[in-house]
Amino acid sequence: MFDELVGNERAKDVLRRMLRHGRVPGALLFAGDEGLGKKLFALELARAFNCTARVGVEACGVCSACTRIGKFQYPPKDPKDAREAYKKVIWSEHKDVGQVLAFAREIFVDAIRDLEYEGNFRPAEGAARVFLVEEADKLNEESSNALLKTLEEPPLTTHIILVTSRPASLLPTIRSRCQNVRFAPLPASQIEEFMVKSRRRVGEEAKLAAQLAGGRPGLAVEFNLDAHLARRDWALGVVEALAGPETDRARLLRAAEELSDAKNKEEFEPYLDVLETLIRDLWLATLRAEGARSVNTDLRERLARLGEGLPPRRVAGWLSRVEELREQLAVNINRRIASDALFLSMAED
Ligand SMILES: [Zn+2]
Repeated sequence: MFDELVGNERAKDVLRRMLRHGRVPGALLFAGDEGLGKKLFALELARAFNCTARVGVEACGVCSACTRIGKFQYPPKDPKDAREAYKKVIWSEHKDVGQVLAFAREIFVDAIRDLEYEGNFRPAEGAARVFLVEEADKLNEESSNALLKTLEEPPLTTHIILVTSRPASLLPTIRSRCQNVRFAPLPASQIEEFMVKSRRRVGEEAKLAAQLAGGRPGLAVEFNLDAHLARRDWALGVVEALAGPETDRARLLRAAEELSDAKNKEEFEPYLDVLETLIRDLWLATLRAEGARSVNTDLRERLARLGEGLPPRRVAGWLSRVEELREQLAVNINRRIASDALFLSMAED
């Protein structure tokens, strides 16, 4: 049942309407930030097709088909020879529901060809074959073209759901062949209520995690609160060094060093995430527009004090610098040099 999923009522309505009218398109694009539940929605749609004890047009959630649709044995991402496993559709325990996953930075064309082949068959056990293409922004040129061909005329009983947090990175021709379903961030209060109700976090911890998750329930559930707060202290140090009456260069270089110590890209990016949200909150404070849109609401007074006398344009400049670095990260750069350059350029702004 879609009601088991938190938030995004509009997406639920759109999907229910499609199911009710028996008009679920062959190609769908689920777009929105990480951690909003796009994949859970896609699996729920796959269940609605294949459930053996449907409630109206929705899945029961408990029959054997419903249970197996959520179960995947993911192949390991390491060692490197594991890549072969990503050249095929990865099936759930249900014979009609599978996923295509990226390996490292790309979705292999062989995986899309396997999807095309499998998508031509009638369902093996349920009413429809459903394929999720996760991180669809990682389709390369070859796999995009192969997918385009598949999207042209899938059989009526085959549905392909592309899932992405970066829809702009998809070929326009792919985007235009899919029906778009948008996912939006949730209010912190809704995330908090959801976590308490589902017993994932309680009390102050639930409240803080809900606030800091920036509207993303998946993040609020998963993230390590202590690690996140440590990163935020670091980001606060950066912002204070920049915002003071005299830019504290020594402190900035120390922060750059700490940042480039983050061992790999997976650790590096969360630091930038936190820094970006904190600067955005400071920017809102300089505009006196903090409120619903700010994330670090527990730091509101501190940020308001920091923002006094700071021109909003200067703070917006810092934000662009972080975004620039993020784009450069997509093409392997030397993180040490890039971190130094980031903070020095912010100090010049
Ligand atoms: Zn069921």
